[in-house]
Amino acid sequence: MNSAARLRMTMLIGAIALMAGLTLWGMQDSWRRIAQLERKLTASQLGSFRLAEEFQQRLHTQGELLLRYTARRSPATWTQFQAASSQLDQWIGEQIAKHPNPRELDLFHQLNTAYADYLAAAAQVQTNGQPAGITAEAFTQLEHVERTEDQLHQLGLQLAGMHREAEALFLADANHTLANLRVFLFIGVVLLLALVAVLGVILYRDLIAPLRRKLVQSEVLLEKQEKLATLGTLAAGIAHEIRNPLTSIKARLYLLGKRVATDAASTADTGVISSEIGRLERIVQDVLHFARPSEPQLKVVRADAPLRDVFTLMGRTLESGRVQLAIEAGPELHVSIDAALIEQVLINLVRNAAEAIEGQGRVTLRVRASHAEIHGRSSSVAVLEVTDTGKGIPPEVEKRLFDPFFTTKDAGTGLGLSIAARIVEKHGGALEYQTQPGHGTTFGIVLPVVPAPATGSAIPPA
Ligand code: ADP
Repeated sequence: MNSAARLRMTMLIGAIALMAGLTLWGMQDSWRRIAQLERKLTASQLGSFRLAEEFQQRLHTQGELLLRYTARRSPATWTQFQAASSQLDQWIGEQIAKHPNPRELDLFHQLNTAYADYLAAAAQVQTNGQPAGITAEAFTQLEHVERTEDQLHQLGLQLAGMHREAEALFLADANHTLANLRVFLFIGVVLLLALVAVLGVILYRDLIAPLRRKLVQSEVLLEKQEKLATLGTLAAGIAHEIRNPLTSIKARLYLLGKRVATDAASTADTGVISSEIGRLERIVQDVLHFARPSEPQLKVVRADAPLRDVFTLMGRTLESGRVQLAIEAGPELHVSIDAALIEQVLINLVRNAAEAIEGQGRVTLRVRASHAEIHGRSSSVAVLEVTDTGKGIPPEVEKRLFDPFFTTKDAGTGLGLSIAARIVEKHGGALEYQTQPGHGTTFGIVLPVVPAPATGSAIPPA
């Protein structure tokens, strides 16, 4: 997985963890709020009923005590009345201290004033000097007490109403909060699922799909290599068997050539036989190279050194005038190579390039600095390029380009590119190409760049 994909994945996992955390927090908060609501509802419901009920009860007790006192004028009853009234007074004080809500506070203050009026009216009953029993005057005074008591009852009822109202408001608020929480949780879960889906897609695209592709490629490569190994062993055996008789045929032909030197027709025949033997030898050589590639003897050289050698070697041998061989100046890079093997690859590429040019054309050699993935990591590389202005490679040939023994030429062996690719791979590099049918092809030998050797030990360019 590359670093961009790793970063994408890390960010996504972070986002999922954040979303999951938020959703969990939302759920936990909603449970807490529901529990709080339950507790508050029970407490406030009971509280509001109890408040009004308790007030009525206490008032009722006081009313009874006052009536009893009026009837009997017993000082003990009056003391009881006073004790009850101071308790109720204290209770009102406590409620004022407990309810800071302005409306309730106002109501309790009204209650306090009305209660003071009630006590004043009750005090008149005690101080009127009337005998025991309910006289007309006492009755009038009791009626006055009753009126103030009624007022107090009204205020008590208002208190209960106010509590219910507050409760309704609290419920509406709680419902609103719960609805919001529900929406939040729903969005959270949907987002979480979406993020998980995206993670799945990215995992598949960046991790599983490339792995699958690599696996399929490795299987194909393994199968191909197995086939090649069998083919190589067979080919090497045959090539070896052909080489010995070929050497003796060549020796006999040489002697024969001497003997018939005076006969022009026979000399022409021996010439043809000799060139065909040369071709056979090249095929045998190619097959042996393919079957038993030699181990490269590595040495650090300037990357353009093998190009210059090949340029000197082949410049003149290419069909004079038809194909022009050129070399371009490039950056000073160093590579660790077996110069003879890399030159063999270059000769092959130049020969193919020249053969792909129908009529006039040009083959250019150059070194280019680049970056490429070698053994799974990006490295600085030198690319030794062979560019031609030939016919390009048609798609049907591209499919089989590196297949051994695949050739489109009458006299080709189809081993050039297979051997070249194998040699470059043995150098830890790769053979790449770009082609444009009708315009030309560029083959590139990609080699890892190495540090320049200490002065004096580097091989200077030819
Ligand atoms: P050979 O040269 O013996 O045919 P190679 O393995 O070198 O074997 O090449 C295989 C085939 O690839 C060639 O027959 C040719 O069709 C194609 N080819 C190679 N190089 C080029 C090129 N530069 N331009 C067009 N076709 C090419």
